[in-house]
Amino acid sequence: METKKRDIRALTKDQLRNFFVEQGDKPFRGNQVYEWLWQKSAHDFDAMTNISKETRQMLEDNFVINHIRVDQMQRSSDGTIKNAVRLHDGLVVESVLIPTETRTTACVSSQVGCSLDCRFCATARLKRMRNLNPDEIYDQVVAIDNESRLYFDRPLSNIVFMGMGEPLMNYNNVLKAIDKITSPEGLGMSPKRIVVSTSGVPKIIKKMADEEVKFGLAVSLHSAIDEVRTSIMPFNSTFPLKDLREALEYWYSKTKNRITYEYVVWKGINDTQEAADALVKFCKFAPSKVNIIEYNPIDDGEFQQAHSSAVEMYQNTLERNGITVTVRRSRGKDIDAACGQLANKS
Ligand code: SAH
Repeated sequence: METKKRDIRALTKDQLRNFFVEQGDKPFRGNQVYEWLWQKSAHDFDAMTNISKETRQMLEDNFVINHIRVDQMQRSSDGTIKNAVRLHDGLVVESVLIPTETRTTACVSSQVGCSLDCRFCATARLKRMRNLNPDEIYDQVVAIDNESRLYFDRPLSNIVFMGMGEPLMNYNNVLKAIDKITSPEGLGMSPKRIVVSTSGVPKIIKKMADEEVKFGLAVSLHSAIDEVRTSIMPFNSTFPLKDLREALEYWYSKTKNRITYEYVVWKGINDTQEAADALVKFCKFAPSKVNIIEYNPIDDGEFQQAHSSAVEMYQNTLERNGITVTVRRSRGKDIDAACGQLANKS
């Protein structure tokens, strides 16, 4: 009976070294293979040209490399690229390359579907199927780095965990992926160029603070009034603003890192002065930045982008209170690659 082959990238470097020792080989062989798996992103064992044929066959007999496959690549008129990424079990997630004059940002997914139920987000309408493994997150980044080199002649510069899924509901795997992305044995990127975006899971935010993570944190707030937030992000009833705020205060006390908030202003939902004042009150405890993002309609018109005068009112209110604010136009709308539009439509 054939035993099930193991996912070789689930092994740590030490485990891989030990495996070779058990096979009567040198531990160093483990280092070589590890380099192929991560730094060189090999898709199959045959690519490992400095490993003997017999050893490659032995690896083939014992392990699989569950590499992702970019099934479809779409390009927007503004340069944005969306990848439909097929996983080893046939499920699909999406990731996005967002180019600007000077940067290439990768927007990556952390789950197939999402654990949360934000009413304005297309991903929330998919069932959450499973968490992504660290290597599946890492592969999305590598694919976008390659595309950036190919189409924009420069390496990837930034990563945001703003694709499908709630990264803090898959925290361990996200952390492992970031370890590989930032390690010299992986991509060697600076953690300062990585932002993890969350709807706010207080317990995990505190954990991140305790672990003194070096990457940035962004919080999708959208409302600083509990009743309103619960009506558009129902899980807010489980993690109310009071708990979120307490976790963020803890985060700031430990990391001294500025907190970024993402915020969409919708007609009739949060476009009042009262709502803007509540936002100021919520984020005043620490240096903050508010990114006001444009709403990307996902269907039935239940949600509508607020009038530009409401966005200006927010801008003025925040600036008057010493809070940095940027107003973001969305990118990649024509290919459904903008925030909240990732839903495996094709
Ligand atoms: N779950 C994580 C990351 C994914 S969402 C989080 O909540 O932060 C990435 C960002 O897109 C979030 O700020 C989310 O609130 C926002 N978003 C979701 N749907 C949107 C839409 N239709 N238009 C604009 N932004 C949207």
